[in-house]
Amino acid sequence: MKNRYTAAVLAFFLGGLGVHKFYLGKWTGIFYLIFCWTYVPSIIALIECILYLVNGEEDFNEKYNNVVVSSKSHNDNYVSNQPIITQTSNLTDTGAVCPECGHINEAGSNFCESCGKKL
Ligand SMILES: [Zn+2]
Repeated sequence: MKNRYTAAVLAFFLGGLGVHKFYLGKWTGIFYLIFCWTYVPSIIALIECILYLVNGEEDFNEKYNNVVVSSKSHNDNYVSNQPIITQTSNLTDTGAVCPECGHINEAGSNFCESCGKKL
C-alpha cells in the first residue's frame, strides 16, 4: 500500500530526480532523471506534490493502489448517461429546428414544414 504523504514528501525533496515516480512504480520517473538538469521536473514534481495532498486519499488509492473506491459507482452512472446525451444531440443534428414554432424539419430543408418560415 503506497502512502500519498510519503509520495508527496519524496516529490517535494527528491521530485527533480523522479524518486516519487519510482516509489509509485511508474517508469516515467526516468524522464525526471534525464531532464533533472533543466529544473523542469522539479517544478512538475512540486505540482504533483500538491496534487497528492489536494486530491485526497480515495483518488490516490484508485490511481496508485488499484483500490476500487465506493465513488466508482458514481462514475459508472455518468458513463451510462452518455448514450442518452448523444442521442438527443443526434436528433438536432439531423433535423432543422424551426426558430419560430419549434417544429423539427427534415435535414436540408430550407423552409419550415409547419409555419413556412425560412430556416
Ligand atoms: Zn415553423
